[in-house]
Amino acid sequence: MRFRRLRLSGFKSFVEPAELRIEPGLTGVVGPNGCGKSNLLEAIRWVMGESSPKSMRGGGMEDVIFAGTAQRPPRDFAEVVLVAETAAREELEVVRRIERGAGSAYRVNGRDVRAKDVALVFADAATGAHSPALVSQGRIAAVIAAKPAERRMMLEEAAGIAGLHVRRKDAEQK
Ligand code: ATP
Ligand code: MG
Repeated sequence: MRFRRLRLSGFKSFVEPAELRIEPGLTGVVGPNGCGKSNLLEAIRWVMGESSPKSMRGGGMEDVIFAGTAQRPPRDFAEVVLVAETAAREELEVVRRIERGAGSAYRVNGRDVRAKDVALVFADAATGAHSPALVSQGRIAAVIAAKPAERRMMLEEAAGIAGLHVRRKDAEQK
């Protein structure tokens, strides 16, 4: 799977709709302190289903919504769209939107889906919100300090078998 485009609206510091093309060979984002580099990476993780506010550097999930500044009022919602190309060369469009007081909603290619469905789409493609391919600030130190079980989870995600655990847990509950 290859990521092609990222669209953000009302997400953290990206208050105005912004679209970024993700060209082959992109390996990093540079810019002055506070310009939104980490926010971009968080947007990619968020649209893939990140469910922990802490790993989004927030206290609650709604903290990803633009909170306003002295010049601009806050927004009511945040939306991130990730356009990717699958291994079968089909276009995949994943949308996650959060509204104040209403929680998150996901769409895949225009269809309403559950968070779990989005997680499986990316887990099967050996990527996802916790993919080792996304190296955010402090991540290297976290890998070094990780417990063996956590390190095994990283390896399983890289190998693309993380989705199997979700399906097994599902089957066991039924
Ligand atoms: P550094 O080089 O220091 O790592 P960075 O480019 O990674 O900086 P980010 O951490 O992505 O910068 O962006 C920080 C900016 O995003 C801050 O100005 C912060 O106020 C803003 N920000 C974060 N969350 C929100 C929000 N919910 N609403 C408005 N602004 C936000
Ligand atoms: Mg940063």
